[in-house]
Amino acid sequence: MTILLDVRDLAVDIPTEDGTVHAVQHVSFSVNEGEFFGVVGESGSGKSVMVQSIMGLVPGARTSGSVLFRDRDLLSLAPEQLRSVRGREISMIFQDPLSSLHPQYTVGWQIVEQIQAHERVSAKAAKARAVDLLDRVRIPDAAARFDAYPHQFSGGMRQRVMIAMGLSLGPALIIADEPTTALDSTVQAQILDLLGEMRSEFGTTVLMISHDLGVLSRVADRVMVMYGGRRMELGAADAVLCGPAHPYTAGLLRSSSFNREPGTPLVPIGGRPPSLLAPPEGCAFRDRCPDAMSICTTKPPVRHYDDGTEVACWLESTPVEPEPPVLPPPS
Ligand code: SF4
Ligand code: MG
Repeated sequence: MTILLDVRDLAVDIPTEDGTVHAVQHVSFSVNEGEFFGVVGESGSGKSVMVQSIMGLVPGARTSGSVLFRDRDLLSLAPEQLRSVRGREISMIFQDPLSSLHPQYTVGWQIVEQIQAHERVSAKAAKARAVDLLDRVRIPDAAARFDAYPHQFSGGMRQRVMIAMGLSLGPALIIADEPTTALDSTVQAQILDLLGEMRSEFGTTVLMISHDLGVLSRVADRVMVMYGGRRMELGAADAVLCGPAHPYTAGLLRSSSFNREPGTPLVPIGGRPPSLLAPPEGCAFRDRCPDAMSICTTKPPVRHYDDGTEVACWLESTPVEPEPPVLPPPS
């Protein structure tokens, strides 16, 4: 297994008027070549800021640690070097394609533009590649839709266009930040399947961020669970889903709406995430954790389980069974 992205002890601090936001606090993980790696956590857990700061997209962010990508430390690249990595070697797909697509240009033109901005190819060759990509992401009648404007596509189709654009320069890594959150669940599933297929077809490595563990379970090989800017659990998606060892992961599973049987209620995690202006000592989850103990005010150790899962928690138990959902009384 070759490591494509190796994040070591990454910390991201963002100065604000209210003080310094400690958005990411010493997080380490690596993504293997060809892997579908998921990062999950509630909003405010630091996952988006983490990848955006890696890509140099958070103005004013102070970073420490290292982020090795193909033997270069992305944190120490000059802005123009990072710009050339972005798009060509690493592409990003966001939640809202409308904010990434220009409303006044056809989608085909925008893909061609991106190809020609990075590569010396004729307009004709770039167009042929764009139509082929639109076809591969299953835009019906791709040659004709090449000349359509973003507003003429549905939300799901626009996200397909973004995936085509993300693939257009043959990147080694696609970072997708909540790419399906705005879509209804059927379309969500189609887009996730498409991302999975593109990974197999193009050999692209995918790092996908989601607040929904259920969504990632459909596609990810491994998942990292983040909370309060820290890493809580990391392991094979199957292992983490079937027996979450961290109480926060178990809570996320109970609150996931993805592929839930109709009539099964969600059980949200009570309370609120900690302030990242003054992160708590010890376990960041302790104010909301049903298993919190007095020792949890000190930093939890990282436990390594036999199946490869790593868990930052004082609990020594075997992985926690997710609680069975509480069914509503028969009417
Ligand atoms: Fe809960 Fe303590 Fe584990 Fe944190 S360290 S998740 S508070 S049991
Ligand atoms: Mg986010």
